[in-house]
Amino acid sequence: MTAKFGTTSEKGLTASYSPLELEKEIREFWQRNRVQQKLALFREKNNSGVLGYVEGPPTLNGIPHVGHARGRAMKDLRYRWKTMQGYYIPFWAGWDCQGLPVELEVEKLLGVKNKRELLEKVGMERFIQECKKAIMKYHKEWAAADGKLGVFIDQDKAYWTYKDEYIEREWQILKRAFDQGLLEEGHYVVAYCPGCQTSLSSAEVGYEGAYKIVEDPSLYFKFLLAGKQDEYFLVWTTMPFTLITDTMLAVNPEAEYAKVKVNDEKWILAKLRVQPVMQELGIEKYEITETVTGKSLDGTRYEYPFKDLVPEQAELEKKHPLVHKVILEDFVDVNTATGVVHQAPGNGEEDFFAAQKRGVPIFAPFDDEVKFTKDGGIFNGKFARDTDAIVIDELRKRGLLVSAETLKHEYPTCWRSHHKLVWLARKEYFLRTDKINSRVLEAAEKVNYFYESPKNRFLSFLREGKPWCISRERVWGAPLPIWKCRECGAETVVASKKELLARALEKVPADFELHKPWVDRITMKCEKCGGAMHREDFVLDAWHNSGASPYARFTDEEFKKFVPVDYLTEAMDQTRGWANTLLLEYVILTGKAESPYKAFLLQGLTQDARGRKMSKSLGNIIDANNALEKYSADVFRFYVLRKCPPTDANDFDPGELSRRPYQVLSTLYHLSRFFAENSEFDGFDPKKHTLESAKRGKQLKSPDLWLLSRLQQTIETYTAKLETCEFNVALAVLEDTVIEDLSRLYVPMVRKELWSDDPATLGRRLAVYSTLWHVLKTVTLLFNPVTPYLSEALYQNIYKRIDSALPETVNLEKWPKPNEELRNKAVEEDFQTLFNIVSLVYSARQSVRLKRRWPLSKMVIVAPEKKLRALKNVEDLLLELTNVKAAEYAEKAPKQVAKEGWTSASENDSQVFVDVHRDEKLLGEGVMRDLARRVQALRKELGYKPTDVLDSVRIAELDKETIQLLQPYIQEMKELTRTKNIHLPVNREEIETEWHESQLDEKKVYIAIVRA
Ligand SMILES: [Zn+2]
Ligand SMILES: [Zn+2]
Repeated sequence: MTAKFGTTSEKGLTASYSPLELEKEIREFWQRNRVQQKLALFREKNNSGVLGYVEGPPTLNGIPHVGHARGRAMKDLRYRWKTMQGYYIPFWAGWDCQGLPVELEVEKLLGVKNKRELLEKVGMERFIQECKKAIMKYHKEWAAADGKLGVFIDQDKAYWTYKDEYIEREWQILKRAFDQGLLEEGHYVVAYCPGCQTSLSSAEVGYEGAYKIVEDPSLYFKFLLAGKQDEYFLVWTTMPFTLITDTMLAVNPEAEYAKVKVNDEKWILAKLRVQPVMQELGIEKYEITETVTGKSLDGTRYEYPFKDLVPEQAELEKKHPLVHKVILEDFVDVNTATGVVHQAPGNGEEDFFAAQKRGVPIFAPFDDEVKFTKDGGIFNGKFARDTDAIVIDELRKRGLLVSAETLKHEYPTCWRSHHKLVWLARKEYFLRTDKINSRVLEAAEKVNYFYESPKNRFLSFLREGKPWCISRERVWGAPLPIWKCRECGAETVVASKKELLARALEKVPADFELHKPWVDRITMKCEKCGGAMHREDFVLDAWHNSGASPYARFTDEEFKKFVPVDYLTEAMDQTRGWANTLLLEYVILTGKAESPYKAFLLQGLTQDARGRKMSKSLGNIIDANNALEKYSADVFRFYVLRKCPPTDANDFDPGELSRRPYQVLSTLYHLSRFFAENSEFDGFDPKKHTLESAKRGKQLKSPDLWLLSRLQQTIETYTAKLETCEFNVALAVLEDTVIEDLSRLYVPMVRKELWSDDPATLGRRLAVYSTLWHVLKTVTLLFNPVTPYLSEALYQNIYKRIDSALPETVNLEKWPKPNEELRNKAVEEDFQTLFNIVSLVYSARQSVRLKRRWPLSKMVIVAPEKKLRALKNVEDLLLELTNVKAAEYAEKAPKQVAKEGWTSASENDSQVFVDVHRDEKLLGEGVMRDLARRVQALRKELGYKPTDVLDSVRIAELDKETIQLLQPYIQEMKELTRTKNIHLPVNREEIETEWHESQLDEKKVYIAIVRA
């Protein structure tokens, strides 16, 4: 009687599903047998095709949280699934190691406040070492989380963006850009963070959360027209410090401007704005004395008021005739402020272009900390925004201040340090991606994004098509490979370490690497004039590092084989990040309107249980490693994929893990055990007892045919939904197969047959096992991409154990395909009718509180003829599932049911009537079933297998009447509970044994079990 699955078995499945222990065992199994490596190697050599992949490298400046883990689960899902379909995927890790985020993290660790302090106190060499240490520390956390989550990504083949061999290939992309005239140096207005002391790309300025409500001055002031005593331009600004760099005023040429008499003065402003501005300023007495066009104001000179404070401003007037005059610009909006816009080309993008096209000098007297230089006159040494108050004061002193209020508005801040950004004209290097924008857009349109809204978001961002400022004034980054001649200004782009070392004038030290400060020490000879060439002192935007990955992480040969890659998935914020830079760099590299990826799934954010963004300030970030120590990886993976579409924000609620997701996996686990134990008992052998042999022996019955047919639809829908990245829908289908088709419907239909150990019905039992083997094993394979631990555990402990010829791991199994021969539409329709009627009977019972296990004598089913025919096909099941002894069928309700003593329920065209009368026979059988159920529950509780036969069961304290009722059913009860003897002592004290208290309706009964 002992099953093969004894407790002595090393890998036997425990009686309860304890995923954390199970996962630990399977993890060890994978490691011990090098399963991940074998799988990759096998698919590299035996595949039905290659699907390229390049890892979106996590930045190693922090530890992974559950949102990252969700993204990694999606990546692993695809890998395992496609690998089972026979594809080879270079699923190799990658790490983003350099850039501002890492630097800031290390600055924090070292306790320095800014770059100046960093260079003075720490020095570059040590800083570089500290950065490397820091990324390794974070890498450990990421690798650990991947390990727990069961991500089969190859860590040994990881790329690291800071390695020389990676940087070299990144340089080659820049070389390609340079050769196409797309890499340019230029003064340009960039968003600059005074905290991080570096410029930001326009993509970074647009990051979610970068705009914050801040308080700024709101200032009306006036500039006197040259040669007039009382005529002024009225101007508005929120950034008073830009008056220090003011060089022009702009008006809209097409708009009407009014001269407004206020007291003894005339103010010039857009006519449309007169009324609202006067109201805002609280001026009631005013009069429009004249209206002119914007055009007529062209070239009007105004008195720049601070020439005494900023002497350089007087010099500027000598340099260009348009300085401190009115210019005409279409961008001037006359629906806001005063319609007269002061121009500070050193501090604004539009202002900059307006000056540049007229040849007006750009006045930007700032250092790296955005403090004024000596050209800033009395403001020398002051941080730009700290001069706002002084400027207001100076205006007031000069009688030019009209009103100084404050206002709250949305203003961009640094996404890292949250300093208010300042727009500054600086010398930078740009990729002129604006010149290739049409090709970039064409490439982007060819990509599959699976969902419309992320696609539209991405394309509309790309349409902005701004030049990409790639230079950063930082330390820990890939160096910009441009050397420039100090004599003639000639530039050269170096494309490899070898080339660099060959051209270096200095002897290169042994510890040389492609980083600051080493690269800065290398000079070379100018080929044009023989002068000395020095490196342009910038590092690259870290987004350029990761954007180079499809080229930089591979060899030439691999690049040809794997790129464009098949599929990528990253978080939604990568719309402006990696998704963008990958595309730009690939179009530059290839010169074609092609994308390096064929499909890109952008995932929604992971939020906390209350739907709030996870952030340090709220303290609601859930660390992935902590979570995966507490919660099962399988349950976690199932939960995050099942809960909502991948593009939706996911409100991660740890409390939800132990509910439905656990229940689904636990049900699959127990169904599998149920199958294993029973089939083992009957000596099931999948090689002998196949579906074919069962069919030949006419042992397959309609429930089996129904289940097998349903399975084909599951395989088809599930696979299709994975293909379209509707993971939540796919898993709902799988969940239904386990909970509904298998657990709630199929097993109850065959349980009674399996219970028997009559040799005469062995053939039938074997047919059920061959059905369950086929269905459960298939479902286990379908689950593998989502719950790799559970699938492997079931595979090893059940399927592989029964059939040792199976592959070494579930991952080497073939992905199931629907088998058309197993589809059976007719049986499915019959069963749909059956289930509908059964649930109608249940609700009819419920309305008069008749428990399902109480047998009833008869029912009448009223339905269209077609349905009745279907029901007659499966009448045995109908009676079994409804627990009613007999059924009558009618197309119209017969008269008898109108009488009392019937309960009914109906839905659509179907109606059931159930006779509620119970005689002694039915009552006896009902009590027997009640008690049998309690015995079965107790058996389970005490750890007996379904196949164990008990020596005796004692049930004490039943009243005489009940014992009488039970007598005719003792034999049936023995069969139901697999017991040799059943005793019903009146008094439990008569027998010394271990009694278990139970409840039968309102009375207490006591049960004792003795095993053979
Ligand atoms: Zn910053
Ligand atoms: Zn030169």
